[in-house]
Amino acid sequence: MTNSHWTRLIRDVPGFPKPGIVFKDIMPVLADAAAFDDAIEALAAPWHGIRIDAVLAMEARGFLLGTPLARALGAGIVPLRKPGKLPGRVFTQAYALEYGEDALQVQADALPPGARVLLADDVLATGGTLLAAHGLAKQLQVEVVGVSMLIELGFLNGRARWDGDAPLHAALVI
Ligand code: 5GP
Repeated sequence: MTNSHWTRLIRDVPGFPKPGIVFKDIMPVLADAAAFDDAIEALAAPWHGIRIDAVLAMEARGFLLGTPLARALGAGIVPLRKPGKLPGRVFTQAYALEYGEDALQVQADALPPGARVLLADDVLATGGTLLAAHGLAKQLQVEVVGVSMLIELGFLNGRARWDGDAPLHAALVI
């Protein structure tokens, strides 16, 4: 298995960011060059040979994965950011987290309508963040070609909330 190397570096952190949550810490994966390469390839594998204009990546760990993923696919990167970070006209989408509430924004002129995009993040938990990203993609009027997640927390069933037509790929389902 190509992903045996990177998956063994995922660390469980009980009680973060609050009691009752077991946080999947991916930082040790990113700190190891070979594991980082394997993880990016695990994210990219289903999409090679498919035209993707840009990766839409969720703040903030999504940026760390989305940028090398974009370059592996010959695509650009468009950050979906927390409110107040992006200059110019923005679209906003509110969402509920596994722990709390937030919103994501994208620059309104980030991509031309009809651009082909991949949504990417580190972890699919309840699916709220992914829904917000999808909402921003709809506001941009871009075409979502797929979703690529490094880790899917299967027991939270976020996949059931994915309301797009495009395939949802998770490199590792836990
Ligand atoms: P959701 O909106 O699907 O409930 O949560 C997903 C978002 O929260 C992602 O942006 C992800 O970065 C973060 N997240 C939730 N749980 C975890 C976790 O256990 N580990 C990591 N690394 N991120 C998490």
